[in-house]
Amino acid sequence: MDNQVRLLIVDDEEIIRIGCQRILEETYATVEVAENGRLGWERLQQEPFDLILLDLMMPEMGGLEVLEKVQALDPEMVVIMITGFATIETAVDAMRKGAYDYLPKPFTPEELRTKVSRGLEKRRLILQARALILERDRNLLECANEKSRTMTIINCLSEGLIATNRTGQIVLMNPAAIKMLRPQVDSVIGRTVSGLLGHPEQEKAIAEMLATVTATGAITQMEMQTCDERVLESHVSPILDDHGECLGTVTVLLDITQDKKIEKMKSDFVRLVSHELKAPVAAIAGYLNLIIDGLTASQPDKEKDIILRSRDKANALLDLINDLLDLSRSERNRSAGVQKRLDLGAVLTETVKFYHNEAQLRHLELALHLPTTIPPVVGDAEALGRVFANLIGNAIKYTPEGGRVDVELIQRDGWLAIAVRDTGMGIAPDEIKKIFDEFYRSRQVILQKIPGTGLGLSIAKQIVEAHRGYMEVESAVHQGSVFRAWFPIADALPTAAPVV
Ligand code: ADP
Repeated sequence: MDNQVRLLIVDDEEIIRIGCQRILEETYATVEVAENGRLGWERLQQEPFDLILLDLMMPEMGGLEVLEKVQALDPEMVVIMITGFATIETAVDAMRKGAYDYLPKPFTPEELRTKVSRGLEKRRLILQARALILERDRNLLECANEKSRTMTIINCLSEGLIATNRTGQIVLMNPAAIKMLRPQVDSVIGRTVSGLLGHPEQEKAIAEMLATVTATGAITQMEMQTCDERVLESHVSPILDDHGECLGTVTVLLDITQDKKIEKMKSDFVRLVSHELKAPVAAIAGYLNLIIDGLTASQPDKEKDIILRSRDKANALLDLINDLLDLSRSERNRSAGVQKRLDLGAVLTETVKFYHNEAQLRHLELALHLPTTIPPVVGDAEALGRVFANLIGNAIKYTPEGGRVDVELIQRDGWLAIAVRDTGMGIAPDEIKKIFDEFYRSRQVILQKIPGTGLGLSIAKQIVEAHRGYMEVESAVHQGSVFRAWFPIADALPTAAPVV
């Protein structure tokens, strides 16, 4: 007994209806009947059936009308038309309209069983095909989803990714790689690297590397410089199939320009610091040896001079170490936001007071000019005090006797500046940009042996920038300089830096 299939017999002739039902119930568990087209159609709408035996000529609703409705409801439902002799042509027409077969009256039980069994076999195949199509569609969809997911990930990578086939043709290049390499053509897919970067030597090196990786299967690494001076690190790996055969290469590109810069800065810094520290220490050691060896024992004046020079060198060393500490502190605190609303006038007054004696000793006029109202800025008073001390200290140090140093506060377009103007030695135009570099000292101050570390301005600049401000300088040799440190006024919303 086949419990799975469901049959419906729709015929107005009771003897046929009941006869067919009895015969088919021997084989199939669910065989229902309807005594006309309308009732049959109502039943079909309530539950699905696999096969319908449908009489062609019926009152109320004819077989062709039911067939049409069934086709719309479930085009894969198997319909066998039961026809009289007179309607054989209509039966053929019905098959054209979608009926599976027809059974002319009168028919034997065997003929009925055979047609129904063939019809059900057809239904089974239809359902199987439908399931396979669904499965295939689902797999295709999953496949498409997977592919688009992978592509989305590859396209979002900040690392460049390039895949090539065995012959070195590019099969994939993600946006990051395009941005890093800036290829000279619009479409790179299908091309080799040759002629792509506008740098034949580099292209040759890359092509050779890809060929080596394809031939040997070894992972390779290479550094290269782009046309716009950036440094890229590339890691090339072979793409191997299940049998270990190489299908091509995949290259990951990293932009290491910044790392390289930092690396260079670090080594320059270490070299400079060791040089700056070594010279005074060596000098002090030399002076001490002179005293220990007794070479100055009979010349107390010379000995005193040597001791004083040692002390100056030691003081210079202390200045340097203090500046280095400041430098590392301002670098560490670059993003720190422990900031208060400050009255820069008060900070400035304190600093100017501190330098008063020094200015007098050097016969310089030091004057502070403050406006009546000073808007607050947000910042760290101690750090800003160091900036002002550096600017005022420099102005005093680099201005010959008899000159003057004027310190003032200027306000413009939501910004407040402290300006330190001197009538000193000035800075040559080609050196102005460099004075904010660590350890840079102008030719003039080195020549005149004015002590200093070359670190003060670079520290000051970092502190000012950490306060969302900036520094500027104007200078003329032998006439003097003016340094300004600009800060945004608290509560004001400066749209752009003011034009001076
Ligand atoms: P230091 O004064 O210890 O050398 P700084 O970083 O403060 O270091 O200054 C760097 C260089 O900039 C100085 O060595 C000097 O050459 C130049 N400089 C700074 N301020 C002035 C100034 N007011 N007048 C002339 N040159 C200056």
